Amino acid sequence: MELNTLRDLYVHELKDIYSAEKQILKALPKMIQKASEEELKNALEDHRQVTEQQVGRLEEIFSKLDESTTFRQKCKGMEGLLEEGSDLLEEDAPEQILDAGIIGAAQRVEHYEIAAYGTVIAFARLLGEDRAVRLLEETLNEEKEADEKLTEIAESTINLEAESEGEPEAQSSRKRSGSRR
Ligand code: FE
Ligand code: FE
Ligand code: ZN
Repeated sequence: MELNTLRDLYVHELKDIYSAEKQILKALPKMIQKASEEELKNALEDHRQVTEQQVGRLEEIFSKLDESTTFRQKCKGMEGLLEEGSDLLEEDAPEQILDAGIIGAAQRVEHYEIAAYGTVIAFARLLGEDRAVRLLEETLNEEKEADEKLTEIAESTINLEAESEGEPEAQSSRKRSGSRR
């Protein structure tokens, strides 16, 4: 793809985030299934539904730009983040520890998206794509909300539960013959 103008780069970045969103939609069901805490499961499921709308907004933007949504460009950044997440899901860990890890993986995804949407919004503004600016800002706000919700769940419950999971008391109640360290 030749990138000669800001519009070319704008479309390039939109394709990246579109690819990222589609990959997220594929990855979320497994994360939701592996999460234990109800509040975390719900937050991830809510964001899965929101992500479907985000994909729809991008499709609207592509069609307005006369750009197809079938292209080969793949977001390798998101591919890597999601691969780390799926590796984590395969680890042998108590559920509270896994939940804390899932939050960390999900927040990495949100931060990538927040950065990517910030960039395309700036470009759309310069290009006078006002409708796109509004659509993309809606999405950016949803990504920020998801990120904040995850922080809240981590700090109010899950990190604390994960911490007490590692305490000697919790360990000895699980395996009474546990050796002291
Ligand atoms: Fe998203
Ligand atoms: Fe990317
Ligand atoms: Zn997101």
